[in-house]
Amino acid sequence: MRYVSTRGGVPKVSFDEVLLTGLAGDGGLYVPEKWPKIDLKKIGRSGEVSYAEVAAHVLKPFVKGSVIESELFEITDTAYSGFGDPAVAPLVELAPNEWLLELFHGPTLSFKDYALQVVGPMLERVLTARGASVTIVVATSGDTGSAAIEACKGRDAMSIFILHPKNRISDVQRRQMTTVTANNVFNIAVDGTFDDCQNLVKGLFSNKRVRDELQLSAVNSINWARIIAQSVYYVSTSLVLGGPEKPAVYSVPTGNFGNVYAGYTAHRIGVPVEFFVVGSNSNDILTRYFETGVMTAADVVPTLSPAMDIQISSNFERLLFEAYGRNSATVAGLMTSFGKDGQYIVADEARSFIDRLFLGCRLDDNGTLTAMRRIYEETGKLVDPHTAVGIVCGRQFSVQPTMPRVTIATAHPAKFPDAVKSATGVKPDLPDTLSDLFERSETYVCLPNDIDVITDYIYSTRTNL
Ligand SMILES: *Cc1c(COP(=O)(O)O)cnc(C)c1O
Repeated sequence: MRYVSTRGGVPKVSFDEVLLTGLAGDGGLYVPEKWPKIDLKKIGRSGEVSYAEVAAHVLKPFVKGSVIESELFEITDTAYSGFGDPAVAPLVELAPNEWLLELFHGPTLSFKDYALQVVGPMLERVLTARGASVTIVVATSGDTGSAAIEACKGRDAMSIFILHPKNRISDVQRRQMTTVTANNVFNIAVDGTFDDCQNLVKGLFSNKRVRDELQLSAVNSINWARIIAQSVYYVSTSLVLGGPEKPAVYSVPTGNFGNVYAGYTAHRIGVPVEFFVVGSNSNDILTRYFETGVMTAADVVPTLSPAMDIQISSNFERLLFEAYGRNSATVAGLMTSFGKDGQYIVADEARSFIDRLFLGCRLDDNGTLTAMRRIYEETGKLVDPHTAVGIVCGRQFSVQPTMPRVTIATAHPAKFPDAVKSATGVKPDLPDTLSDLFERSETYVCLPNDIDVITDYIYSTRTNL
């Protein structure tokens, strides 16, 4: 399988190259040259195949030609063996035909583990085969950081630097990152927002000298390997709900558009989907786009669902690429105008392509608190603020009663104890593996939102020499 950039400015590359570099050299995102098709019936029936087997089956066409192709099942089997639920990604019924897909049973309690626990060992194998090493730099709005650290800690061929926006993530989220003691892990609290962190990472990558000298690698949701690993749980859900014939509605609390785009990937390879609901909090650039057809950046406001406090949804570019019939020149033009003016307009034809499958919805913090309380009263379940946005947004659009509605539960409620407690009066407990989190000691540096300072810090501390 070969991959092309959404902006068309670089040659086609292999999966291994995509895995190692993340972002393409022209600033675009890699997508497969052609969509493979998977016959869901060949994967086997739900209950008869393990999640790891489904994962190996789904990933296979995407890694064709890679050194990891022959070891796929070994990788997925090891990756998911430590998850806290035997189903790995269990579907829980909230109400008749309304489901929660619980993606918080990995080591750091967010859905990001479902991708990164696979991506870490994939990277290690490719690096070992090449005798190479990488410096991984990640911007996190809270959950990517700890998931990336858990996936990469102690792997000698990698140094990992995590940039998080200072005081804009929860204490649990920060401690999950800063209490890890592996010597290849470096946490940086940046004086700024998540978008500032993301721009710093983009700045590092766009400097060719820095990129080459440090062998920079990104494991953010722009990394294609994460997208395909996440598409697996849409496939496993479809198997449970009676696919390949029966479609479902998927409501996805969205930030960088990675998770919902993984759903689109699953759809392109064979999962039947009625539509996706793209849920946002008050940082509603996507909802405004769905209302107007214009993507316009605005300032980020902090909310109770910080992993969605984003005004640039990077992975949307991948969908635009499809919506414009894979015309990379047009996509490159839109992205240039977004960079210059903070705005671009989607043409009618591309817009209706997107509207056929995606609907936007927003919920502010008051609505989120009310929802968490109502869900607790109705079902006895505590849900995290991101999941609450997903559930409410999923209920906004009416469907036939026989149509399954699935909300992606993106984090464990204990990652956001303050919000959950103020909504329900109940403080959610951390699972046993993390129960002493607040007794562990923290290590991190605070740095200004300044690309030169960050670059110097990485050069002087990295361990992968
Ligand atoms: C990362 C994250 C999101 C947003 O996911 P995207 O892939 O960026 O759209 C939503 N909820 C939680 C809990 C997250 O950690």
